[in-house]
Amino acid sequence: MSLELRDSNINGKGVFTTKTIRKHSVVCKVEITRTVTKEHPLDPAQGEMYYHCHYAPDGETLLLAEPYRYFNHSCRPNMFYYTVNKAMYCIAICDIAKNEELTLEYSLCNMFGKEWECRCGEDNCRGHHRCGFAFMEHSRQMEYLPYLDPFIVASYPEEIQKVLEKNLLA
Ligand SMILES: [Zn+2]
Repeated sequence: MSLELRDSNINGKGVFTTKTIRKHSVVCKVEITRTVTKEHPLDPAQGEMYYHCHYAPDGETLLLAEPYRYFNHSCRPNMFYYTVNKAMYCIAICDIAKNEELTLEYSLCNMFGKEWECRCGEDNCRGHHRCGFAFMEHSRQMEYLPYLDPFIVASYPEEIQKVLEKNLLA
């Protein structure tokens, strides 16, 4: 495993790579611990927190295994989620140096809608915002469209088409 859990400059713990990663290569397959259900909810006493979950476009809440649950968000991410056949992969957006933190733009892999305050420190940081591709400003939607999880595209075809139509008129 070339992924390592370390203290993050962004927030709490983060996931770092112990080797260089080539642009457009698969960084890892994301494993889950289990699906969170009403019958089997998160157990905070066991350290299971809502921010350790992936909110899949089909409405399932997936408790991510370690270290994947510690991927931090960045407004300038170096990876994106690619879900196919319900298997989740992380793919590198750019070359990633050894010892760099691995980050995702959470809005490219869900439509959660939760409001939160980002402190990623990037010059394009969205600060206080709602999580979800539909809530991004239009220029950013177009910039990150190639990195949108195909599971989102398949689950929200009308919303995605609206973005394209809007750009056509711009
Ligand atoms: Zn940010």
